[in-house]
Amino acid sequence: MSNTSSNLHERQSGSSTFDSQSSDEDIVLECRNLSVAFEMDRGTSRVLHDVDIDIRRGEIIGIVGESGSGKSMFASALLNAVVSPGRTDGQVTYHPRDGEPVDVLGLDKGPLRSLRWEDISMVFQGAMSSFNPTMDFREHFVETLDAHDYDIAAGIERAEELLSDLYLDPQRVLDSYPHELSGGMKQRALIALALVLEPEVLVMDEPTAALDLLMQRSIISLLSELRDKYDLTMVFITHDLPLVTKLADRIGVLYAFEFAEVGDTAEMVRDPKHPYTRALLNATPNLDAPLTEMRPISGAAPDPVDVPTGCPYHNRCPMATAECEDIKPPMDAVSETHEVACHHWPDVDDEIPLSTGVQK
Ligand code: SF4
Repeated sequence: MSNTSSNLHERQSGSSTFDSQSSDEDIVLECRNLSVAFEMDRGTSRVLHDVDIDIRRGEIIGIVGESGSGKSMFASALLNAVVSPGRTDGQVTYHPRDGEPVDVLGLDKGPLRSLRWEDISMVFQGAMSSFNPTMDFREHFVETLDAHDYDIAAGIERAEELLSDLYLDPQRVLDSYPHELSGGMKQRALIALALVLEPEVLVMDEPTAALDLLMQRSIISLLSELRDKYDLTMVFITHDLPLVTKLADRIGVLYAFEFAEVGDTAEMVRDPKHPYTRALLNATPNLDAPLTEMRPISGAAPDPVDVPTGCPYHNRCPMATAECEDIKPPMDAVSETHEVACHHWPDVDDEIPLSTGVQK
């Protein structure tokens, strides 16, 4: 089960990578050549391709991309939760605060189930609707605590504290059935449930997508408070780049099932270097505008069965050259905290000016 990670730092040419942090950095999750594929009648559908990334302990990282960019697959692959017949390859190594590194993709069913709640917890997209309508929230919490042999009384006490941290009335929530709470309250209860077994990492897939703008902003600030109080690492998956800039320390932009650009949020907002990230930012009038005001980016996201050769963005990119059509750009360091996969990133400031002008 355990796995040393020394052999995991080797880059493969052309892989989507952001592992340039120095070795003394505290890494909690390490992904190497992480890929997910489905065999289909018309060919192999590669929905995540050779992704390398280190997630640092205590950070909030936003994973951003259009629908069909691979971001949900990335979340599932992190927890070895890709549904059959999907095939997950590569390496995910969890480094607990204490103890040996864990090879997540090599875990058997039992240890994997424990890891998913007790170490790395996930709020799946649309999970609000998965509450059992015949059980009140107290029963949901008890069921989870019981399934993991946790002390029920202590667990309910923690649930009350978490609900209260999320500005909910704990007793009211625990005694309510799912249909008795609003969407925003249910989503917060779901976050409390995901944290009740004291995981170190919380992965959330589009946790605010079904909520109104006000509730989205409110949950964003609550997550920040939770991170600080419980010393959490958070992976926040979203299609909403403006929203995640309000929360994340770092942002990774996925395009065509690979990272196109990864960097500190302030740098990514102030000076993104990938033409696609620029297009995403230019698609919104300013970062405080509602998502509904975003303009769509022209062209369609790639088909996972037929990803373009060379740079996968070349058929939508205004800067594309013949080199882009033939040769896949490797990740290149823009700075110590910023990497981009583009042959021509030094020219992007002149070619694609940013229209947002927004500072973080
Ligand atoms: S490598 Fe070429 S096609 Fe790809 S983003 Fe850069 S300029 Fe555009």
